[in-house]
Order: sequence, then structure tokens, then C-alpha cells
Amino acid sequence: MELLKRFYEVNSKSGHEDQIKELFKAQLACLDIVVAEDAFGNIFITKGCADSFPCVTAHLDEVHAPTERNIIVDGDLIYAVDNKGESVGIGADDKNGLWIISHLLHTKPVLKAALFVQEERDGEMLGCRGSIACSLAFFDDVRYIIAVDRKGNNEVVTVGKGNICLCDYDFIPNDLLQKYNYVCVDGGRTDVVALKERGLHVPCCNISCGYYNAHKPDEYTVFAHLVTSLTFVSDVIDRI
Ligand SMILES: [Zn+2]
Repeated sequence: MELLKRFYEVNSKSGHEDQIKELFKAQLACLDIVVAEDAFGNIFITKGCADSFPCVTAHLDEVHAPTERNIIVDGDLIYAVDNKGESVGIGADDKNGLWIISHLLHTKPVLKAALFVQEERDGEMLGCRGSIACSLAFFDDVRYIIAVDRKGNNEVVTVGKGNICLCDYDFIPNDLLQKYNYVCVDGGRTDVVALKERGLHVPCCNISCGYYNAHKPDEYTVFAHLVTSLTFVSDVIDRI
């Protein structure tokens, strides 16, 4: 949980992701991986050698403006208050995704990860700016992309906003859905939806990672739900 708290302590409002990038890269320093950054600021990580890779994605940015952020851990609940005791968001959307991807990079021998900047809408600017600007070549040798950027603890988004089909209904093995009590749903717009709109051909989905009340001051995480999400995604990667 210490790494997660450190992620939450860093504000990464869209366009200001440098500090979270440095923290994320620093805790991977012991790994034998290739880390590249494109001109827009997106991060692309490759671990191991393979003809085809599993790939995971999350976004580095959050909607919240910088403020004092005291991280409170109350049993399984994690949230934050400012110096006056008022609730402030923690950017669990999508630092929970970053935390899961960090664990996967430490444990899986072969994995690709794409970490996008500027996923969130920002005033008049539409979201998914990093995933719209990136080259698709990084994904030429991936079998699929699993985003960990969905609220709650039991959903796999297989159809994105605008009726964008992300994957077939049986992309995630049914026994794993049942084991972890996840169900397939229609969802909103996120980076994998933008990639699909651009013509990406591999299956994608977006999996719940234990955050609630995203984009609001009373945003919180249920740590047990985040851990279950990590185990679920890990099992899926081991299987497909
Ligand atoms: Zn998000």
C-alpha cells in the first residue's frame, strides 16, 4: 500500500504528469525493461522478448487541481483530506491502474505497458489526447490491450462510448469472470476506445480497479477491491 499512497500524494493534473512519471519510472529501476517516451509525453514499456505480448494500459493524469492532500487509510478505505479536513480527490482514477501495472511489470516475465498522458477532459479540450497523438506501431506485436481504468470492482467494459466494440463477448474466459464476480458491460470513453477508433485491430477491454466517486472530492479506493482487480488481471494475462 505504501507505493499506492505515494502515487496518491503526487498531483498529476492533465498536462502536468512529469512528477508521477518520474516516480513510476524510479520504482521500476531494478527491472530489466525498455522504457521509451514519445514526443507527446506518453510512456511505452517493454519487458522480455516475445513474438507477441500481452499489453496493459492506464493513464498518468487526473482531473484534480493541486492542493494539500493528506492520505487517510481507514481499514480498507483510502481517501484524502486537505489541511482543513475537507475531502479532496486522490487521483485513484487512474493511479490504481498505475499501481496494478507496476505490480505486473515486477512479476510477469513478458509484458508491454502503455501509460498515456492527458486522458481526462480538461475544460474545452476533449479527452484521450495522448492516445490520439501516439503512434500505433508499439502495438504491432501485442495480442490484446487490457486497460485498468474502470470504476468499481466488478466490470469489464467490452463496448465503449459511441458503440465502439472493444472485443468479442468471450474475450475474457467465462470461468475467470465468474471466479472474480466480474461482468461485461458497456462503458464510457477511455484510451482503448480512442485507439479502437483509430483502427487498432487487437481486442481491448477496460477493467474495474477499485476506485469510487472518480472526479469528485470524495473519491476513494477500497484496497481489497484493487487487490482483487490485480489478481484478476494477472490471471487473465496468464491465460490469454
Ligand atoms: Zn480514468
